[in-house]
Amino acid sequence: LGESLRNTIRKISKAGYVDESLIKEVVRDIQRALLRADVEVHLALKLSKNVERRALEEKPPSGMSHRDFLIKIIYEELVAILGKEKEVALKPQKLMLVGLYGQGKTTTAGKLARYFHKKGLSVALIACDVHRPAAYEQLKQIGEQLNVPVFGIPGEKDARKIAREAVKKMKDYQVQIFDTSGRHALEDDLIEEIKDLKEIIQPDEIFLVLDATIGQQAGKQAKAFHDAVGVTGVIITKMDGSAKGGGALSAVAATGAPVVFIGTGEHLEDLEHFNPTRFISRLLGMGDLETLLETAKELELKEEEAEKVMERMMSGKFNLKDMYEIWEQMAKPGLLQKILYSLPFFKMGDIDKGMVEESEEKLRKYRIIMDSMTYEELENPEIIKSSRIKRIARGSGRSEQEVRSLLKEYNRMKKTMKQMRGNRKLMRALRKQL
Ligand code: GDP
Ligand code: MG
Repeated sequence: LGESLRNTIRKISKAGYVDESLIKEVVRDIQRALLRADVEVHLALKLSKNVERRALEEKPPSGMSHRDFLIKIIYEELVAILGKEKEVALKPQKLMLVGLYGQGKTTTAGKLARYFHKKGLSVALIACDVHRPAAYEQLKQIGEQLNVPVFGIPGEKDARKIAREAVKKMKDYQVQIFDTSGRHALEDDLIEEIKDLKEIIQPDEIFLVLDATIGQQAGKQAKAFHDAVGVTGVIITKMDGSAKGGGALSAVAATGAPVVFIGTGEHLEDLEHFNPTRFISRLLGMGDLETLLETAKELELKEEEAEKVMERMMSGKFNLKDMYEIWEQMAKPGLLQKILYSLPFFKMGDIDKGMVEESEEKLRKYRIIMDSMTYEELENPEIIKSSRIKRIARGSGRSEQEVRSLLKEYNRMKKTMKQMRGNRKLMRALRKQL
């Protein structure tokens, strides 16, 4: 079916124009692909109906072909359900994980602990699962691997009591991750328990952990958890298997909460940021479409993002994460790139064509280096001196030279930002361009 969808898309490309029968055909194929990927029936129908209606009613903006427009609509309708990328904030917070047995809560608690710990935040794991035998030991073992403290009361039968103690005893840890009990099925006492835990913990985020293979029941399950405690994010585990994760779409539709991470293996490092485009391509089995989807997505995000980045550039606060974002923008031809090119201080020597071509590779390298920096370092790169450079180089497997050149790049950009702030006329001109 992935194949048949690809054929249909190929047909659209060849046709050069899109007529009603072609739209209907594409819509039917999308429907089938969605159902095959375990998306709930009513959701698949609703989605494909929306695509059909929009494709028939709306006109492409000038300069966009009917073909690209149709793909853009498909993409937008899928993203409307999945939500935009949401990154979990790197800040002190309390996280609570909920979900049924075996979905991957405890493993994910460990993965999240590793993630925040690596970013330099102090982390504590809290074992509130009182139902599964040896749940505490499982988490304890994970904590030992990571060098992260684990709070629990072995033998205690009341999860509420553990949570109450933990809130007091672990309050000095910046990130507190609460693992909770599951059940084989949705049961009233589970719902009561997590409601009470929410009251006691007062978490900043409540993540629903779902196994990618869950399929058609995902929506129902997600809705029950959401009605009980209000889910703020979804984590899909076991995406390393063959499941396409269509259940995730239903879960997101039922909760309105975005997917924040995906689990891609049993090890603690197997946690990835969720990428809607990649997910949608996989869901529909149309890997070929990824580039086209990226384009559609960019069209939509370009202006929004450019504005956000410019805003920050002008606020005078400018850290390594901002630089990375600007780099990311420059790797794609677009509005921001055009604006940056037109600035007097970005001489062609600074950003020449070769650099844009190289920037994909550079971005990849920078990301790896930045992943080994702590939260504090990313926010405040000035503190990175030679001992930290050594550590970052070791942690990222890159040379110290490369870390230094990343920092040099940052300092140069920062200087440019400063100059820019001093130039009111230029700032006015830039605002107008946006
Ligand atoms: P819990 O009952 O919700 O706490 O689930 P666990 O964290 O104990 O995980 C249940 C099983 O799923 C364990 O065998 C984990 O190793 C496995 N698991 C969890 N996440 C992933 C993942 O992303 N990929 C794979 N392949 N296995 C996973
Ligand atoms: Mg568990």
